Amino acid sequence: MINTNEVLKKYDLRLTKTLGQNFLTDINIIKKIVEAGDVTPEDLVIEIGPGIGSMTVELAKSAGRVVAIEIDKHLIPAIQENLREYENFELVHADVMKVDLESLVKNWQGPLKVISNLPYYITTPIIMMLLESGIPWDTLVFMVQKEVAQRMAATPGSKDYSSLSVAVRYHADPKLSFTVSKNCFIPKPDVDSAVVRLKKRSLPFTEGIDKEMFFRVVRASFGQRRKTLLNSLGSQPWLSGGKEGLRSVLEKLGIKESSRAEELSLEDFVRLSQAVSSL
Ligand code: SAM
Repeated sequence: MINTNEVLKKYDLRLTKTLGQNFLTDINIIKKIVEAGDVTPEDLVIEIGPGIGSMTVELAKSAGRVVAIEIDKHLIPAIQENLREYENFELVHADVMKVDLESLVKNWQGPLKVISNLPYYITTPIIMMLLESGIPWDTLVFMVQKEVAQRMAATPGSKDYSSLSVAVRYHADPKLSFTVSKNCFIPKPDVDSAVVRLKKRSLPFTEGIDKEMFFRVVRASFGQRRKTLLNSLGSQPWLSGGKEGLRSVLEKLGIKESSRAEELSLEDFVRLSQAVSSL
């Protein structure tokens, strides 16, 4: 296991909060994350933010190929040294939000996985970008702030159920794998963390759905989550038919007009957005 303090000292590295640099120092947690991804030699693994490469080494031991994308140029020499023995490893010095992911994965024939202890300042944009990216991922494993993991895996009716939960379920089956104490990092983050695994939905039900309308309906419904659907969705300027149109749609679908967004399943949102589209 890489000794984080030694590496930081050797390369005179100062970790920055603005880049979400909390490095994992517990080898058991690192191994559990790799296990959650069920990594095999068939897999191409993309790691976002390798830091000094502590998890990258474990990934490189199990995967067919590892591509790590790191934004911070100061970390590059340390990663390169720590991974020097692994021929199946490639380092890309870039912002993951700007990199051409398609070109990084295009010649790989086996499963594609993304495994990352994500930088917390940009968690949701990275997750949404990957979900929407169109690259053929099969499994995503993320360490994120505990509350975000709970929202990602939440089911209808729970207080954590949100537009992020619906977006995740639109693409994948989520599973909250385990929680991680603040003490497993250098420096210690202010929040607790958890690992969540997303498996690509095997039966995509999304074919033929007007995706833009679907997410518009989801966002508007959760936008004012304490309001009833009739009031939150019904007040949207883009809704043809206004509140009255929505009232009849809800009645036809058997959804109570006093329902709130958090009570609706993914399937309810699909039916609702389809009915709203045809208003
Ligand atoms: N994987 C390492 C570990 O577990 O110890 C480091 C994880 S640390 C939470 C997040 C890493 O993401 C840092 O190395 C940081 O520099 C990097 N990072 C932050 N923003 C990034 C971005 N937009 N693109 C790529 N890497 C980024």
